[in-house]
Amino acid sequence: MPATPSVTLNNGVSMPQLGLGVFLMPHKQTAQNVSVAFENGYRLIDTAAAYQNEEGVGEAVRKSGIPRDELFITSKLWNADHGYDNAIRGFEASLQKLGLDYLDLYLVHWPVPMRGRATETWKGLEQVYKDGRVRAIGVSNFKPAHIERLLQETEIVPAVLQIELHPTFIQGEVREYAQDHGIQVESWYPLGGQGNSEGLLHLPLLTNLAKKHGKTAAQIILRWHTQLGLVVIPKSSHPVRIKENRNIFDFELDQEDIAAISALDTGVRLGPDPDTANFR
Ligand code: NAD
Repeated sequence: MPATPSVTLNNGVSMPQLGLGVFLMPHKQTAQNVSVAFENGYRLIDTAAAYQNEEGVGEAVRKSGIPRDELFITSKLWNADHGYDNAIRGFEASLQKLGLDYLDLYLVHWPVPMRGRATETWKGLEQVYKDGRVRAIGVSNFKPAHIERLLQETEIVPAVLQIELHPTFIQGEVREYAQDHGIQVESWYPLGGQGNSEGLLHLPLLTNLAKKHGKTAAQIILRWHTQLGLVVIPKSSHPVRIKENRNIFDFELDQEDIAAISALDTGVRLGPDPDTANFR
């Protein structure tokens, strides 16, 4: 299988373009799935404090024997930990659960604008970054207006923006904004998310493209993400699918295939709106 390509973040750090997402995976299953992913060449793992499975990721990292500097481990700060001191404590708790002494990427999970603490939270992330305990910092679910505020009030431009993004919600304007500001976009719900992926994977356009390229519909969608320059983190708990999702770098979609997939955009989110999402 060809190697996973990398993107270079705005601070020079290299990030694999494909990883395993571990949302909704219980601890034990997480350790097993991450081990399967490592065996299949994955090096990027996307977890979060809120997923309550950072220990499982850490267990698989230790078992793997893969040199730490070949891995790219992301975690995220939960909403309950907004605020400068809380953010630093939240970061330290994640490190401890993972059993690591540094992270590759740490994200603010949601902007929670109604609480108004995103700026001081970001300053907490800037501090752990300056202390050399994380190689890059970024945000998740921030809209351009939320990022603008950070740019005005803080020092460091986020390296990554992780957002809902899939063929029916292609986030054209946000991608353009991120590109103009040197921010790498990473897609969550890349296959439409649990409960929606079935419908997406059976669309005739995708099943036809799958036939044309001798691939599966899931592989077609993941290749669409990577050819758009996005980082993608599909989730699966099935070894066959974990392998299948990794095996997308031995073919290329044509420009017209990419345009046809992008034309599936409805502009409608499947997940929560970051302006109103206030999970505790
Ligand atoms: P996803 O789009 O990766 O879809 C997962 C669904 O697709 C699962 O039901 C899975 O069984 C199915 N699937 C996976 N591979 C398949 C294949 N080859 N063939 C057929 N079906 C397949 O959705 P997700 O897990 O919600 O998102 C991916 C990752 O993004 C998460 O695990 C998490 O790491 C991250 N995420 C982040 C946020 C955020 O707020 N930052 C929110 C949601 C998810």
